[in-house]
Amino acid sequence: MAVFINDQCTACGLCLPECPTESISAGDIYLVNPDTCDECASYSEGSHCIAVCPVDCIVKPVPVPVPKTN
Ligand code: SF4
Ligand code: SF4
Repeated sequence: MAVFINDQCTACGLCLPECPTESISAGDIYLVNPDTCDECASYSEGSHCIAVCPVDCIVKPVPVPVPKTN
């Protein structure tokens, strides 16, 4: 699985040097290569990019079931 950068990205660049697999590329909105991102599986502290992103726009694409309330 790979993380995903949504359209709230401000292109601040903080995540780019943090990625151990060089999966992040710069642009108007930064992108993650899903073929190489391993969600920092080798690191116990979790995803480096998520830890440094100031606007919390990097998300894990795990679908969360929404229970019906009605
Ligand atoms: S989760 Fe880790 S490997 Fe994936 S893009 Fe972020 S820093 Fe790179
Ligand atoms: S740290 Fe967050 S806001 Fe900054 S470039 Fe990366 S994804 Fe975009």
